[in-house]
Amino acid sequence: MKVMVLEKRGGPLQARERPIPVPGPGQVLLKVEACAVCRTDLHLLDGELPEIHYPIVPGHEIIGHVASCGPGVMLENGMRLGVPWLGYSCGECWYCLHEQENLCDRARFTGYQIDGGFAEYTLADHRFCFPISSDYSAAEAAPLMCAGLIGYRSLSMCGNDLQRLGIYGFGAAAHIVAQVALWQGIALYAFTRPGDERAQLFAHHLGATWVGSSNQLPDVPLDAAIIFAPVGDLVPAALRAVRKGGSVVCGGIHMSDIPSFPYALLWGERQLRSVANLTRKDGEKFLELASNTTIHTQVECYPLHAANEALTNLREGKLTGAAVLVMAEVNSQD
Ligand SMILES: [Zn+2]
Ligand SMILES: [Zn+2]
Repeated sequence: MKVMVLEKRGGPLQARERPIPVPGPGQVLLKVEACAVCRTDLHLLDGELPEIHYPIVPGHEIIGHVASCGPGVMLENGMRLGVPWLGYSCGECWYCLHEQENLCDRARFTGYQIDGGFAEYTLADHRFCFPISSDYSAAEAAPLMCAGLIGYRSLSMCGNDLQRLGIYGFGAAAHIVAQVALWQGIALYAFTRPGDERAQLFAHHLGATWVGSSNQLPDVPLDAAIIFAPVGDLVPAALRAVRKGGSVVCGGIHMSDIPSFPYALLWGERQLRSVANLTRKDGEKFLELASNTTIHTQVECYPLHAANEALTNLREGKLTGAAVLVMAEVNSQD
């Protein structure tokens, strides 16, 4: 099978041929249909995540079909599954026993510590996979697995009774959570890089009430803001934009250092928090919501061998929506 492998810090990914792996106990072998590309893949490429063991196959927003099952797994061949970032947790620690397996110290992550979906086949622990409806094409469903899930968890951390939500960084996660927020009747305030007209147009097109640069302030205070861009300077900017008692949620796995800021920005019971990974309950709730609403994921499809091009376009802010690698047999979709 063909895989795209990260063999050293900085990359680029290398196209390699590997034998199709055999599922062990608790695992399924999936024939990958599509795998979306995430900013975390860039952090992996740049060596910004701790303890990367090379070689590693990136990709943690996988849609595939069960090709075979390992011992102890009773899933039908051909069943469609999605594989998210959280690929394993211990099941025994305090976090795991309190439905916070996203915080498990022994958690392992797809496309980082477990070979991921930039490949024609991949192995996954069946307990961390989600059934995926056939209503979505594989390319449209793939970004739901991280951009969608992390966005959903970030939104659920913003507090109740939201009327005005700010989003900093208008990429793949933002465009999905924006649709969920609008569906819930929340007005959207989109902050982009200064001068990023493409992202601003995209936010307008999705129905944002206000669109501006991250160094601007809307004329009304927001109830909450989510920061998807990996830029620490946005933290004081977002605190400035939210009302007393409001929340600022950092949705990324990596962020540049947060500059010091006056305590007055946090004062007034404003809250600042991060969101780490996802729980299986998030996945179930979000996918149920995704089947009740029509989330339209805007995708740009690339063949597997063009993974480096997709990563570069993501890095350079050239994407509108999400980049998705689509495996050869199904590249007629979307
Ligand atoms: Zn991701
Ligand atoms: Zn655990």
